Amino acid sequence: MNYNAFNLLRQGLSGHKGWTQAWRSPEPKSQYDAVIIGGGGHGLATAYYLAHEHGMRNIAVLEKGWIGGGNTGRNTTNVRSDYMFPESAAMYNFALKLYETLGKDLNYNIMLSQRGWLTLIHDQHQLEGARHKANWLQCNGVDGQIISAGQVADMLPGLAMNSRFPVRGAFLQKRGGTIRHDAVAWGYARAADKLGVDIIQNCDVQGFEKTDGKITAVNTSRGRIATHRVGAAVAGHSGVLAEKAGFRLPLTSHCLQAMVSEPVKPLLDHVVISPGTGVYINQTQKGELVMGGVLDLYHSYGQRGNFPTIEKVITSAVEMFPTFSQMRLMRHWAGIVDITPDSSPILGQSPVENMYINCGWGTGGFKAIPAGGYLLAHSIATGTPHEMAVPFGLNRFRENRLVDEGAAAGIAH
Ligand SMILES: Cc1cc2nc3c(=O)[nH]c(=O)nc-3n(C[C@H](O)[C@H](O)[C@H](O)COP(=O)(O)OP(=O)(O)OC[C@H]3O[C@@H](n4cnc5c(N)ncnc54)[C@H](O)[C@@H]3O)c2cc1C
Repeated sequence: MNYNAFNLLRQGLSGHKGWTQAWRSPEPKSQYDAVIIGGGGHGLATAYYLAHEHGMRNIAVLEKGWIGGGNTGRNTTNVRSDYMFPESAAMYNFALKLYETLGKDLNYNIMLSQRGWLTLIHDQHQLEGARHKANWLQCNGVDGQIISAGQVADMLPGLAMNSRFPVRGAFLQKRGGTIRHDAVAWGYARAADKLGVDIIQNCDVQGFEKTDGKITAVNTSRGRIATHRVGAAVAGHSGVLAEKAGFRLPLTSHCLQAMVSEPVKPLLDHVVISPGTGVYINQTQKGELVMGGVLDLYHSYGQRGNFPTIEKVITSAVEMFPTFSQMRLMRHWAGIVDITPDSSPILGQSPVENMYINCGWGTGGFKAIPAGGYLLAHSIATGTPHEMAVPFGLNRFRENRLVDEGAAAGIAH
């Protein structure tokens, strides 16, 4: 059933009882032409583009929990494409462009809100860095500009301009903003299901069967599934899955936390981050303030929050916006993110001939979901990397061709 004004009216008049299920819950088949492991945004987008762009239909997405229950449903929903290196700029900007029409393409409201992404500038050194970045972005055809302290004060009326780290201006990407995160997972799931993709939840991939070094089947908590093409998009558990397939990845897994306040009236129209503290804030359409900071520098698969992070994020948020001090915190959670040495993703061929990987997005892969899915689908369907994915191949670590966005773009998200 299409989501449109006519159907909304029709269902409204009949008590909303006639909406059909957005996707099926089929039993796993014994064989698929391709299996995607991980039902987050990247895995679901991969399945959709495999079906939509490459005409493959006999595909399954295997998710050990529920779709969008990993980092895709746990992130702070920020999107932007202000990365510095040409290869990153091309890929993240491609993702943002796909996001700009995704609601229409999937017939699903992903609540894209291009309200502007502001990175505060606190000192001369950061101003130089921001100028450098804005010039790079222009060379790469990506929008981004420096605005003055006065303009920042006008845009963010509650911001303390002279707190611990005084505000000297900001870097602004107007096309940056937020998207409802679980709508991205649900939208891709519904569209993929419509094209015949089987989305199988509660299906943990526990091992692989191989012949002559190639995968012939995956063993899951719901039985054996034969396949000759495997795509993996399991974020913080990529290292665990790789070990099951017989290889290692240059990744470390860390806990990253976020939190929301109680809902309040609209008071923050943009997304704002302070490089002084690493803390960033946006306000949801429901009125909650979404806040996050830097990751735990301790390696862990423990997907839970801790009080020191709450304290750090809240004190920094209140330092930026003193009026927030009377608000109550409503919820707090964590996800496990996968960090590469150069803070860029790993895309394409794995050391196993018929297994392709999409991982290493770290703290900033939500904004890249359409591109990550598109590029992984290309690798699975054609056996070769898309030219946009070539710089992000696993072999860059062996060949010393790092795309060091950790140094260039700084804090991700
Ligand atoms: C608190 C927080 C804030 C963030 N904020 C932002 C932000 O503002 N902007 C941004 O761009 N990015 C942000 N990120 C990062 C972003 O969320 C991730 O990079 C992105 O969601 C990764 O998507 P994914 O589909 O690869 O992974 P996930 O959504 O984590 O999906 C992977 C799935 O694989 C499943 N899985 C794992 N192992 C197996 C197995 N063996 N068998 C079957 N299934 C398996 C998991 O259950 C999971 O559902 C944030 C992350 C966190 C945790």
